[in-house]
Order: sequence, then structure tokens, then C-alpha cells
Amino acid sequence: MKGLVCRECGKEYPAVSLHVCELCFGPLEVQYNYKEIQATLTRKKIESGPKSLWRYVDLLPIEGEPSIGLHAGFTPLVRAKNLGDELGLDTLYVKNDTVNHPTLSFKDRVVSIALTRARELGYETVACASTGNLANSVAAHAAAAKMQCYVFIPHDLEAAKVLGNLVYRPNVVEVEGNYDDVNRLCSEIAGEQRWAFVNVNIRPYYAEGSKTLAYEVVEQLDWTAPDQIVVPMASGSLLTKIWKGLNELQKLGLVTDMHTRVHGAQAEGCSPIAAAYKEGRDFFKPVKPKTIAKSLAIGNPADGYYALKAAAESGGAMDTVTDEEIVEGMTLLAQTEGIFAETAGGVTVGVLKKLAKQGIIKRGDVTVALITGNGLKTQDAVINAVGRPTRIPPSLVQFQKTFNLTPHG
Ligand SMILES: *Cc1c(COP(=O)(O)O)cnc(C)c1O
Repeated sequence: MKGLVCRECGKEYPAVSLHVCELCFGPLEVQYNYKEIQATLTRKKIESGPKSLWRYVDLLPIEGEPSIGLHAGFTPLVRAKNLGDELGLDTLYVKNDTVNHPTLSFKDRVVSIALTRARELGYETVACASTGNLANSVAAHAAAAKMQCYVFIPHDLEAAKVLGNLVYRPNVVEVEGNYDDVNRLCSEIAGEQRWAFVNVNIRPYYAEGSKTLAYEVVEQLDWTAPDQIVVPMASGSLLTKIWKGLNELQKLGLVTDMHTRVHGAQAEGCSPIAAAYKEGRDFFKPVKPKTIAKSLAIGNPADGYYALKAAAESGGAMDTVTDEEIVEGMTLLAQTEGIFAETAGGVTVGVLKKLAKQGIIKRGDVTVALITGNGLKTQDAVINAVGRPTRIPPSLVQFQKTFNLTPHG
């Protein structure tokens, strides 16, 4: 890691806890000495690393050894033949972060890196502004690392995501407002407490964790880049970093012929980034979220502008789905691939379906859908779409009658 650099004016900083440029207020991001990295980093070296995202430590923003979140990442890339058959895609894969360790979402990636870096920077208290999954992951990792912890969430989150904080005993602060209110409050608190807010004052380090999804997809495709990748968007950070990660692999010669199109998916009820794309704007207008995809409900997305830019550079598109289509996407994925994803997964599958139908993604394209969270955390979303069990008395005759079966042979 070389240090931080302003994404707007290019001013460079050392790798401290700073997230906005002192000159132009642009956001900062981590910079690396790619020449030095290229001299020593090979596919073989990566392949001999741990079966976690830390196999890519040379491209991650820490200085010492990984210390927190040692098992995150390296989740399965599932060949989704059945879902592909449904959507008319011959080579579809699902990157399954519903089984990430330890809190079953993609956020275990960013938090492993953020907390390892926070400890390096001398912080004892960690915090975050969250739409749900981030808080779960920060709370779990802080418990295991014996760090003080405050998580801030909107007041209307899914029950499983609230419980998924409380069980680790952090300070859970439920704010009477939406995520954007939570985030504003956290920025104010970050200004007066010496706490590591993973997605505020140490955001440059946190965000780098998202790149590992791109690295893993490429490695799991035997060091080739897919033709198409569909990414759910909240703040837009994940999409931006998928693009950065793919370009780094190309720059380092770890993949050749990278021509991936990166597509963004949002819920119609909170689609400031996708709406800007559809209307041909390069800036977004903040919205008041109203969607069942609460993990993606950010009305004023910090990386919206950069996500628009990344998708455009890659030749990717953006689209949205209704709440109904989200539920359809969740049940379709479950019933074709046996993967129970949360609402954000329904958004990704729903948008993938639209892009395939419109011919933006073609039958022969190697396509990857990023499935980023687990359905057990958002059960209310599908409760009315999955039917009920068939109830019978404990009687063989009743069973045969109910299912219209006759004894075999
Ligand atoms: C946080 C999150 C995302 C993406 O968030 P960004 O802010 O765009 O990086 C995607 N899916 C799930 C389930 C999430 O929790």
C-alpha cells in the first residue's frame, strides 16, 4: 500500500484515518505500488495462500499480518445451470456470499479488512452506519476481537438483522430515521469521538474489501474474466470496487483480455443510481427509500457517481425491479439452485432476468450474478409467497390419501 489519493484532484496522503481530501473534499481511496506488487505476485503465490480473502493480502490495505476476520471470503462460485436454463443463459454462475463467514453476507469481507486496519491504526472502539448486514458483521467481529462496538441502524430493520446485532452485545443504536439520517448522525459522531467508523472515517480501507469478490470470481473461473457481472447497489461502493479489482488484475498481468461489463441492480423503490443511468445523467438525485430490499435502501449513495462512471467505462447497464419482482427473484433462485438469498439477491436475479431478456446479456456470455446476503435474515419478504406445509395426522392412510399415492410394488 502506497497511501491514500483523492479521487477528484489526485492529492496524495499517507495511509492514515482520513476519508475526504483536505483540498477539494473529494473522497480518498487507497493506492498501491503496482510495480512492486507485480514483481512478486503470481497466480501460484495466490493459489498457495489461505482459503479466505486473505490470499489476496498483497492487494489489500493493511501493513502487518491479518488479525481480524481470518475466515471471510473464498465463497463458492456455483455453476447455475438450472437458473441459466430458466433465463436463457448457457454459462451462468452465482457467486454465493450467502454463506460468508461469520455473518452470512458480503459485508464480512469489508469488515475483516476495516477492523484489521482499524487495529493497526490504534483504534479500540469500532462503529458503523448500517442498513443491517454491516452492523451484524461489525458486531460479530468486534466481539471476537474484544473491541468496543457501537452500531447504528434505522429503526425499521428486519427482526433477524436486529437480533443479529444484539446477540453479540454491542451498543445497538436504533435511530428514528432512515439510513441517510443514520449516516449523517454517524459523520457527526465520527467528528468528535476517536472511533473507527468502518464506513465513514476509515471508509477507504473498508471499501477495498469489496475487490476480493472480483478477484475470487476470476480465480474461480480459472483466471479468466467473465463477460458479464451483475452487482447489487446500495452506496454503489461494491460495484465501483469490482471494476477496480478487475482492472488491477489486468494491470498486474494476472488476467489477460479483461472485457467484463459490470451491471448495476437496484430496487425500484430506491434506485437513485439506476434512475440516473436510465435517464442518461452522470449525477444522481437523492430519494426517500421505500422497498423491501432494506439492505440496499440508501437514498443518497456515497459512491453513486463513481458507480455510474464504472458501469459506463465497462459498457455495463443498470436496471431496477419492483418488490414483487424481488420476491420472484428470491424464490426463483431458491427453487432452481437451492440458494436462499435475501432481498438483495432477489434484486440481482430480477435485474439479471431483465438484462437477459433485453439481449444486453447474451445466451453465450459467461455471466456471474453476485448474491450478497442470506434469506434467513429477511424471511418476512417471502412468507406469503412460499405456501404452507401440508398438514396431516400421523396416519399412513391419511398420507396416501392426501398425496394420492398407492403402495409401490
Ligand atoms: C451492503 C450490501 C450490498 C452493497 O452495498 P454497497 O454500499 O453498494 O457497497 C449488497 N448486498 C448486500 C446484501 C449488502 O448488505
